Amino acid sequence: MQNFDWIVVGAGITGSALSYELAKKGLKVLLLEKDPTYDNATRYSYGGVAYWSGTDDDSIQLCQESREIYHNLSEELGENTDFRELDLMLTIPVDNNPQSIAENYQKFFIKPQLLTPDQSVEIEPLLNPDAISGCLKLPHGHIHPQKTNNAYQQAFLRLGGTLNYEEVTQLLSKNKTVTGVKTNKQEYYSKNVVICAGGLTRYLLKHIGINVNIYFTHSQLILTPKVDIELKSLVMPGILNRLNIEEKSGDSELKSLWDNSSDQIISDVMETGAIQFLDGSFCLGQISQIISNPLAKNDQILAEKTIREGVSKILPELENLPGKLHHCLVAFCADSNFLVGKIDNFEGLHLFSGFTSTLMYAPPLARRFADWVAEDNKEMPSLL
Ligand SMILES: Cc1cc2nc3c(=O)[nH]c(=O)nc-3n(C[C@H](O)[C@H](O)[C@H](O)COP(=O)(O)OP(=O)(O)OC[C@H]3O[C@@H](n4cnc5c(N)ncnc54)[C@H](O)[C@@H]3O)c2cc1C
Repeated sequence: MQNFDWIVVGAGITGSALSYELAKKGLKVLLLEKDPTYDNATRYSYGGVAYWSGTDDDSIQLCQESREIYHNLSEELGENTDFRELDLMLTIPVDNNPQSIAENYQKFFIKPQLLTPDQSVEIEPLLNPDAISGCLKLPHGHIHPQKTNNAYQQAFLRLGGTLNYEEVTQLLSKNKTVTGVKTNKQEYYSKNVVICAGGLTRYLLKHIGINVNIYFTHSQLILTPKVDIELKSLVMPGILNRLNIEEKSGDSELKSLWDNSSDQIISDVMETGAIQFLDGSFCLGQISQIISNPLAKNDQILAEKTIREGVSKILPELENLPGKLHHCLVAFCADSNFLVGKIDNFEGLHLFSGFTSTLMYAPPLARRFADWVAEDNKEMPSLL
């Protein structure tokens, strides 16, 4: 029988960061991951750290903590995260008024600089000036997400943590109190379990009758090998339609679709974006579809064509880069920036998921979570 102080389910960036911070407190931690190939959202992320995006005292404080953590993270973990500062270029379509789009960004504590198409091309020469009415430029952080995930895991293992590749099939409990988890191989025991299962968090909790306001998109993107062309910034759209559809996901009329895991496409957006990693490879994106069945099949040929067509307009030289389409689930919650804390009516069960800007929020909140645990859960938020 194997006993742990904490069991963490899911080893994407949220689970890896949290496992490391808990182990740093001297706790005996088991991290369980079902997929040794890491075919997950962390692997396919652009790697942007939106530390400009705080809108109130709490989120501004988290942005600042995040920036500080990333500046020292490679050194602390003893592995390279490829952290750097780079420009985020938010493109504004040619038929939109740049000033009115810029207005939407005035709520953030770091305001963007509004650039004309010519000024935009000076900063990012691969942009097509005829396709945009301007760009909003913001100072962004950038990491290699999979390297950072691996760095957290290696540091966790050096602290004595255990990482096993097994799928959690059941949460074990008695009288609404967690006692451990059952995997496809064995049972593990612990008084504390935290779910970091990304897009599958909703279904894992549903099995034990817990309905949380957490959902997911099916995301599709293209990863390329190293290529010689150089993109200087992270390019994304200034109008993020995905956020609007995410907000609507909790609407009561969609409830039965989420409850019954349907293949119906609730919404579908294409947002042209591109990032080049320091090793010369690109991630081109991104299609986000809301379909409540996590196993729904996607049309790969159509998805690749749609992404390449989107890229051809904004960044024409990247349209035909060699590359392969990938798919992943991305968790989000409809009405807050994250779901972090203990589930009140289920002793020992915790959530660490559903972030709006995961790469920005997860590292500082993992640190705070471990502090709350070390101080007997004193300030740990309650969920539900
Ligand atoms: C194209 C694209 C670009 C993005 N760009 C950015 C960006 O620039 N900045 C940003 O902040 N975010 C970005 N994101 C979002 C970000 O990648 C995700 O929010 C983040 O990686 C989610 O991390 P996670 O740990 O919650 O989930 P995941 O990385 O998906 O990890 C969850 C893990 O849990 C495992 N798991 C699930 N169920 C079980 C189970 N039952 N047992 C064991 N293991 C289980 C899964 O196998 C998976 O490995 C982007 C996403 C995409 C697709």
